[in-house]
Amino acid sequence: MPLKIWIDGKLHEKTDAKLSVYDHGTLYGDGVFEGIRVYDGKIFECEAHLKRLFDSAKAIRLAMPYTAGELTAAMEETVRANSFNDCYIRLVVTRGAGYLGLNPTKCPTASAYIIADTIELYSRDIYEKGMSVITSSIIRNHPSAISPRIKSLNYLNNILAKIEAVDAGVSEAIMLNHMGNVAECTADNIFIVRDGRVRTPGTAEGILEGITRGVIFKLCARLGIPCDECVLQRHDLYIADECFLTGTAAEVIPVAKIDGRIIGEGKCGPTTRRLMDAFHKHIREA
Ligand code: PMP
Repeated sequence: MPLKIWIDGKLHEKTDAKLSVYDHGTLYGDGVFEGIRVYDGKIFECEAHLKRLFDSAKAIRLAMPYTAGELTAAMEETVRANSFNDCYIRLVVTRGAGYLGLNPTKCPTASAYIIADTIELYSRDIYEKGMSVITSSIIRNHPSAISPRIKSLNYLNNILAKIEAVDAGVSEAIMLNHMGNVAECTADNIFIVRDGRVRTPGTAEGILEGITRGVIFKLCARLGIPCDECVLQRHDLYIADECFLTGTAAEVIPVAKIDGRIIGEGKCGPTTRRLMDAFHKHIREA
């Protein structure tokens, strides 16, 4: 059965799901989006994702065409129409169709669409043995340019970093910020464990405030694991006891190697394992 895609209130078969070529989302990357998981038929962290979407829209001065309640209902309708129990949702809001100039005020209405689909997951092996990653030569967006806190349709700097990861034969690349500190990966947040403490860069370092990252904070508090935001240099990664990444698609994934250097014992460490187990329990209970 072909997938059904929701566009501005209507479901279309995938091959008929079309947007205008004048949409500023495609012409200029002018829009915002969310990647969301559905576990056991329930939208995971729905409220947090919608809050981030509305914050992103506000930051780019885009008037949201639907309320949070309407978007929740539309996501539920799309998941149901495709008979998914577990899936990935891509919720996109573009500036809408306009003319061939930049001025967004000439786009009368923003457009929204929702894709519910399966996602390509990393192999089980990587979750056991840990992922190899590199540090990219591409820095994360300067917070005074497009703030990395905005989940915008313009992912080009992350894509350039991702290409370096692919060239190096690894799955993810760590991006430093304009000060040379660790920011995050191309589509994941990064954490280290050092002397029993879980640490991750704060928002001032130029990162997307990941929803999974937020769940890790909650789980650390629940498990009594000290966890804080702090400035991390590449050196801190190299000498970490453990390192792991978080993201909606990846969930919690251990890192075994960075730039060819073995991190900790070069496998999934005990604190990462505890958090992975707690995360999997949490998503089925949430
Ligand atoms: N950083 C970036 C740049 C991302 O695109 C993402 C989402 N894919 C993340 C971090 C992780 O965020 P979340 O946990 O909300 O998926």
